Amino acid sequence: MESIEQLAVSAGVTVVTGATVSRIVTTDDHVDPAALAAPEPGPYDYPTNEFDTNVIDRDELRRVLEGEAEPTEDAPAAPAAPAAPAAPAAAANTGVSAAAAPSPTPVRVAGIQYLDATGAAHTLEADIVVAATDLKHVETTMLLPELQTYPESYWAKKTAGPSAVLIYLGVSGEIPELLHHTLFFTKTWKTDFEQIFGKGGVAAGLLKGVGIGRPVTTSVPSPASIYVCRPSATDASVAPEGSENLFVLVPIPADPGIGSGGEDGSGSAQVEAIADAAIAQIAEWAGVPDLAERITVRRTVGPADFANDLNTWNGTALGPAHTLGQSAFFRAGNVSKKVGGLYYAGGSTIPGIGLPMCLISAELVIKRLRGDISTTALPEPL
Ligand SMILES: Cc1cc2nc3c(=O)[nH]c(=O)nc-3n(C[C@H](O)[C@H](O)[C@H](O)COP(=O)(O)OP(=O)(O)OC[C@H]3O[C@@H](n4cnc5c(N)ncnc54)[C@H](O)[C@@H]3O)c2cc1C
Repeated sequence: MESIEQLAVSAGVTVVTGATVSRIVTTDDHVDPAALAAPEPGPYDYPTNEFDTNVIDRDELRRVLEGEAEPTEDAPAAPAAPAAPAAPAAAANTGVSAAAAPSPTPVRVAGIQYLDATGAAHTLEADIVVAATDLKHVETTMLLPELQTYPESYWAKKTAGPSAVLIYLGVSGEIPELLHHTLFFTKTWKTDFEQIFGKGGVAAGLLKGVGIGRPVTTSVPSPASIYVCRPSATDASVAPEGSENLFVLVPIPADPGIGSGGEDGSGSAQVEAIADAAIAQIAEWAGVPDLAERITVRRTVGPADFANDLNTWNGTALGPAHTLGQSAFFRAGNVSKKVGGLYYAGGSTIPGIGLPMCLISAELVIKRLRGDISTTALPEPL
């Protein structure tokens, strides 16, 4: 099977690997503030109130759900406010708007600036830019403040998904006590969530509809609910004969202050302590008392690695949490409202976290570019 890179190259795409994008170049970097203050409203630009996701209005959603408005593909639903332009049903259903309509934005993308793997700076001209990495990083570091749809003030009210300590182990001898996939669940499920997101964070916010985004104190659950993968249980090629290979995921708060990982215990003290505790937990819960002594290879990854290496918001491993106000059409949209030709894909945007979701976000960008407002999948496979 061809890789995505091979497919792209055969379609005539130039692939640059190891590049770090530093800035999205626009047609007018000296933006006229007056033009930005009063943009021409587009068909999907209508006021939102509680959630500033710019995609749907809650009153409109209520009217549609209660049958007061009947959205159809070609007839607009009831307007959100008397003077506001109406929103077609497809936007309410999918969060996708028609790209066919001319962009009302006075500024368009002109390209990107990036550093190549050797650190040399380049500019690449482009009519369309699809940013597929952490949305906070893209919006708040690559665009001028006037051009940010999701500025710092947006993120200040949002909740990051959890981070993780990842532990990669080589273990001498077999570990038949573990299956390919093993989940170790604590009984203190609710408390664990409160520790990871902070009391008043996601768990409480989901239950009470309050507390999202305000400062919270987090901590690492001990013991934690952890995931253990033993790839060598089903694939002999991933470990030398007579040895096993383990991958351990410990969900923890999105807090780069917890530190980074390293090889052979050389990571930050708290990350290595979390790894030691997880190894001891597996040894006890799975009944492998000599597990720690049999480890021959050890590498850890911590929240600071997610923040430094992948530029993720607060070192989250997953992206914005799937709270109610950050899910479905309440999640950040996949198009800039201020820079024409700038689109977003990946876990930060609609529909959300996970590889299938990220592929759907790419599909939504393609459909938006084609002006396809259908709710069905693309005719061709992604
Ligand atoms: C440990 C772990 C296990 C997971 N397991 C599963 C699973 O089993 N199933 C599942 O569906 N999902 C899983 N997920 C979630 C899934 O991996 C993510 O939702 C998905 O990878 C997000 O894709 P993305 O394209 O948005 O971001 P990423 O895959 O993070 O890609 C973003 C890319 O952008 C790059 N980048 C960052 N900054 C810049 C810059 N300035 N310039 C250029 N490039 C930059 C990064 O290096 C990165 O390569 C897991 C995640 C983790 C961390």
